Amino acid sequence: MINLTSNPKGKWVVTSAWPYVNATPHLGNLIGSTLSADVFARFLRMKGEDVVFVSGSDSHGTPISVEAKRSKVPAKELALKYHNIIKDLHEKWQISFDNYTITHNPTHIEYVKKMYLDIQKNGYVKEKEIESLYCENDNLFLPDRFVEGTCPNCKDDGARGDQCDKCQKILTPLELINPRCAICGNTPVNKKTKHWYLNLPKLQDRLKKLIDENEIIPPNARKMCLNSIEEGLPERAITRDLEWGIPAPFKGAEQKTIYVWFEAVLGYITAVKEWADKIIKEPDRFDSFWKDPNTKTVYFIGKDNIIFHLIVFPGLLIAYNEDKVDSEKLVLPYNVSSTEWLLYENEKLSKSRGIGIWIDEALELAPLDYWRFNLLFNRPETSDTSFLWSEFENNIKTLNDNIGNFIHRTLTFIEKQFNNTIPPKIESVESDIKFIEKINTISLMVGESLQNFKIRKAIRDIVNFGKEGNIFLNERAPWHLIKENKEAAGHVFNICAQAVYALAILLGPFIPDTSEKILSYLNAPKLSELSWDSINDDSIKAGQKIKKPQPLFQKLEIGEVKEEYKKLKEGKPKKGGKELVSYEEFKKLDIRIALIESVEKVPKADKLYKLSIALGDEKRTLVAGLAEQYKADELKGKKIAILANLEPRKLKGILSEGMLLAAVDGKIVSVLTPDKEIPSGAKVE
Ligand SMILES: [Zn+2]
Ligand SMILES: [Zn+2]
Repeated sequence: MINLTSNPKGKWVVTSAWPYVNATPHLGNLIGSTLSADVFARFLRMKGEDVVFVSGSDSHGTPISVEAKRSKVPAKELALKYHNIIKDLHEKWQISFDNYTITHNPTHIEYVKKMYLDIQKNGYVKEKEIESLYCENDNLFLPDRFVEGTCPNCKDDGARGDQCDKCQKILTPLELINPRCAICGNTPVNKKTKHWYLNLPKLQDRLKKLIDENEIIPPNARKMCLNSIEEGLPERAITRDLEWGIPAPFKGAEQKTIYVWFEAVLGYITAVKEWADKIIKEPDRFDSFWKDPNTKTVYFIGKDNIIFHLIVFPGLLIAYNEDKVDSEKLVLPYNVSSTEWLLYENEKLSKSRGIGIWIDEALELAPLDYWRFNLLFNRPETSDTSFLWSEFENNIKTLNDNIGNFIHRTLTFIEKQFNNTIPPKIESVESDIKFIEKINTISLMVGESLQNFKIRKAIRDIVNFGKEGNIFLNERAPWHLIKENKEAAGHVFNICAQAVYALAILLGPFIPDTSEKILSYLNAPKLSELSWDSINDDSIKAGQKIKKPQPLFQKLEIGEVKEEYKKLKEGKPKKGGKELVSYEEFKKLDIRIALIESVEKVPKADKLYKLSIALGDEKRTLVAGLAEQYKADELKGKKIAILANLEPRKLKGILSEGMLLAAVDGKIVSVLTPDKEIPSGAKVE
């Protein structure tokens, strides 16, 4: 158990996993790392602890360099553009970062280079000439995600050159069975190249000891790490034959960059340095966090990141620290909090298949605090958990019934019957004493769960506390009591007002907007001025004026929200990053040449034509929005390209069995036609 009441207060570096800059995070990313870390950081601040909370965009991943190559926009420009979008979204979600940075920043780049030179000087870097996969079609070495194939461990065909998503095994490209280039699908050849390796075997015993001696890391993480140490840690390449990234500082490695994972984890260090140097301009604060052995560093990550945070990262720190005096050593990880997966309606989230909700979409569908509450209430702490629309509706109902109603009943009664003024206490009866005791102990109970990273239990205990408030009110029935004894009724409402204050504080880390609203009704100071430990049975003094309250939550009309969600998915292209499509995914598309045999206007739809088409011998109907761009007889007899295996859907009552492909630029729409004579039904590939 951590003691959070000692003096001096503890120091904490709270971090969440670095999102890839090329993709907008989805709700699973958010609850797995950022949102959970935010709750923890907010709680620690309310406890008066010294906290710095950092993360940032991981800008040097392979997808961004591929996109840069394709679009001819410099990778740096793309990375910064997407970074700003993600940063802005995190602000909208009220993630209380002290510094949300990007790995492509000078502080990070310089610090990383220096660290690796020290790690080399301390004898943990080996040079090796190796065979590497090379695509002769793209004239490119194929590290990491540039190559796909079959996992040697679980035989899943979607494994990538760095890891198998199915079984979590960390891989090297050469281990893949049937490797293929992720860009063009060609089979690569072997070619010699030189790389610089981290000597993890040399660090193995110390890493095992570190994990063995750390009693608080979660059992699943401990097991995963000890297993991989048991199997023997491999030497892992630090460098890559890639242009985009941090230049490798080793002599002879001038054309190479540092593997993105080997530098992004160091961002936890450099983000604090950047914060100290450039944001608060107190450079000493960096040392006071990272170089104090008593500082606790906590990493909120998805389960796929455990090995990197508990083996590779501390390995780098141990190697770096070796020649340092104690006051210069960087502190080793204190704990990781890793979640299981969040599913969407029992399916795995997938951007390419459009399954899931992204964090920009969510905010267009329901208020922020509804999402924060729902995600935290169902946090996938010990098993994979599904987001279900029906459950979202129920959870908001639970929040409203137990917390919203209790607060609203209490405050409206005080407003109407006691002239906006908290009434005084008189003598307590037995049922009062029980509830008062609960008020006096609830912050300890919820605080203990939070200290132990049991965020789901913490928020559920708060909901139960609201429920107990309602039960207490119903039992004491002050609306009857007031007829004979106004003072006794006032006494009940005084107790309830203390519980309302307690709820405002307890909800602070979880749904801060709601918390501030409750505090404003109570005419209490803002959340940032109040402490977690300020909850007791006399927090709000008799005689204090309150404001007229408004209901805190509305019923979530889930049918309407789902309808909105559907529209979002169909209508708009995704903001922010683009995701790469694998060759396997591309192969699923059945694009064919079709002959337009007849064209009719669709009644009551200005833009639509009903097309009868032939795909070889097969006849089909297609509905296409071309009526404003083409006359019917311009289309008739044309050969066009269509997506033939799109799920059929009804448009204006007509079943459309495929989708016509056209080039679009603003108002110019041009159907794609083959430039040679080719029979209808021919495949486009
Ligand atoms: Zn596998
Ligand atoms: Zn290729």
